[in-house]
Amino acid sequence: PKQAYVRTKPHLNIGTMGHVDHGKTTLTAAITKVLSDNGSGTFVPFDRIDKAPEEVARGITITIAHVEYETETRHYAHVDMPGHADFIKNMVTGAAQLDGAILVVSALDGVMPQTAEHVLLARQVGVEHVVVALNKADAADDELTELVELEVRELLTAHGYDGDALPVVRVSGLRALEGDPRWTGAIEALLDAVDTYVPVPERYVDAPFLLPVENVLTITGRGTVVTGAIERGTVRVGDRVRLTGGETREETETVVTGVETFGKPMDEAQAGDNVALLLRGVARDAVRRGHIVAAPGSVTPRRAFTAEVYLLPARDGGRRNPVHTGYRPQFYIRTADVDGAIDLGTEGMALPGDTVTMTVELGHPVPLEPGLGFAIREGGRTVGAGTVTAVSA
Ligand code: GDP
Ligand code: MG
Repeated sequence: PKQAYVRTKPHLNIGTMGHVDHGKTTLTAAITKVLSDNGSGTFVPFDRIDKAPEEVARGITITIAHVEYETETRHYAHVDMPGHADFIKNMVTGAAQLDGAILVVSALDGVMPQTAEHVLLARQVGVEHVVVALNKADAADDELTELVELEVRELLTAHGYDGDALPVVRVSGLRALEGDPRWTGAIEALLDAVDTYVPVPERYVDAPFLLPVENVLTITGRGTVVTGAIERGTVRVGDRVRLTGGETREETETVVTGVETFGKPMDEAQAGDNVALLLRGVARDAVRRGHIVAAPGSVTPRRAFTAEVYLLPARDGGRRNPVHTGYRPQFYIRTADVDGAIDLGTEGMALPGDTVTMTVELGHPVPLEPGLGFAIREGGRTVGAGTVTAVSA
């Protein structure tokens, strides 16, 4: 039998974000390399993180890679975020569960458009703690690195982070991967900064169970498996759960017959854990990305809500033209992709770059609650990011 997952340390979800080519994937590989050399984890090489076929086809990161490692005090699930503006959809849906983020900025290039966009979106989806990895420090001189550090701190302050106080660590993912002791030391310093600056989140482990479905797979002979990060509550083998939030509005009640994390079986999984749940008697096509698996009776899908929304300016990939009442974009809420119509009230209109209050009527009901972050997409690009402020009855 497979070895069971043993929870010995607090678990946190973190991830890299930042402009394409600033070194997110290299840094992710370097972190696993340094920790495995120190005896706490498995090295995940660059091409294993950056391996999805779509990435080869388009030369950019599309999917989100998950790696797992441990420091002395914590267990981390680390996602390597896509770097290109066209894939902010993944950034938004993946970032929703992050307890902290490592913002990777190349000391050679400084703050670039996607750096700013990712900081904005991180703020919108509620990522409270950011640690900066000033990467490629091996190739940039001190004066330049100093300037870039100031620039990054300013950017973070402008978006409501504690830009003056948060840790900025100069690293070289590339040199650390090569084993250069100066730079493996820098990776250790970065991990120390994450360990100390990103607090262990207060998990809603006592709340009713909720998991937004990220992926669905079939295991021959066993049945249908859903994967995702548990938003709140706990789940055990034998628990009754309800599948809800789908386009058809059908709800299915079923029983969890298996719980795993990173391939290891668990007795009980809790908020923050990345898990695979085996569901009894659920047909492969009865569940999709975007569905919610929840404790029966704990959530009621709704269509209408009020939100505060930041409309991205054109320079960050947003619209060129104003939006009006009646505008119908796509809403990315948790892992769901739902169309909806907006109402801007008496103003009736808003411009790219504005932060506005709007009411939204979704095409189909999904579980909603105040504080929930979402993205607004149109024709394949992100044009806004928002937070639910109130849900209509
Ligand atoms: P991502 O798009 O942010 O994931 O960036 P990658 O990790 O794919 O790196 C982009 C390029 O920058 C690659 O050619 C890397 O070898 C190079 N690179 C990454 N980290 C460093 C570093 O610390 N120093 C130098 N000099 N180059 C780096
Ligand atoms: Mg990458």
